Amino acid sequence: MGLFGKKDEKIDHEKELARLKAFASLTPEELAKKMEEAQKAAQEAFDKLTPEEQERAKAEAERMMRESEQERNALLQEAQKFGLKVPKFCPYCGTENKGGNFCPSCGAPYKTN
Ligand SMILES: [Zn+2]
Repeated sequence: MGLFGKKDEKIDHEKELARLKAFASLTPEELAKKMEEAQKAAQEAFDKLTPEEQERAKAEAERMMRESEQERNALLQEAQKFGLKVPKFCPYCGTENKGGNFCPSCGAPYKTN
């Protein structure tokens, strides 16, 4: 499995976004390590493909990298704008935080200390 093992699956955007948000909460070191692991796994899967499949996979991977990088950068920028460490759920009412600085339900500010 891995990057090239799921071409028949539709991309689950909510799942992707949750994954990216998890990435955004990592330290740069952790992020680099995860990226390295993902690249290694992708390379191993890639080596098993036929040349024709490799061409297709390469184009697909480039497209995915571009898209996820854009999304990740946007998420990181947003996180930085609000001073990082924003809780996933409102500490006051438990509503899921969709990435803002205030609770969409009760209006409590998420930025603490
Ligand atoms: Zn709330």
